[in-house]
Amino acid sequence: MPPETVEVRRSSRRRRTVSAYRDGEKTIVLLPDGLSRTDEEQWVRRMLDRLAAKEQRRRPSDEDLLERANDLSARYLEGRARPASVRWVENQQHRWGSCTPDHGTIRISTRLRGMPAWVVDYVIMHELVHLLVPSHGPRFWALVEHYPKAERARGFLEGFSMASNCAAEEW
Ligand SMILES: [Zn+2]
Repeated sequence: MPPETVEVRRSSRRRRTVSAYRDGEKTIVLLPDGLSRTDEEQWVRRMLDRLAAKEQRRRPSDEDLLERANDLSARYLEGRARPASVRWVENQQHRWGSCTPDHGTIRISTRLRGMPAWVVDYVIMHELVHLLVPSHGPRFWALVEHYPKAERARGFLEGFSMASNCAAEEW
């Protein structure tokens, strides 16, 4: 059993749906009333697995980041950006990402962990383009715009920065 506290809430009004969510240290599983003990256990197990899988998707590893970067490069940059490594870093309080074009290394702030995949992809895309164009000139932005959700992702990140009362993001 995983070291987590699971609270099962049963509701007769909740006839069709089963759901689960985290509430601090606790995991709440909502189940319809009247399930057998065995069915209930199976549902709890299934919902915990599903929740863990969803969280895993939102917290990709360094290897996942590199894979996504190569995929983005192939799809939107004709494979021209070839990162040597892409990894998460903790110490980037005022940047979402950074790169060293000479080494082909890209660093992504762990503050992005848990954000939607298309937002993380945008930051990876931004750094990939820097491997081709170091400065933020028109050529740079034209390439970034190959990513379909570029503008939406910038809006998302700006909103997030304002909400967390950060200084303007500079990257
Ligand atoms: Zn930049």
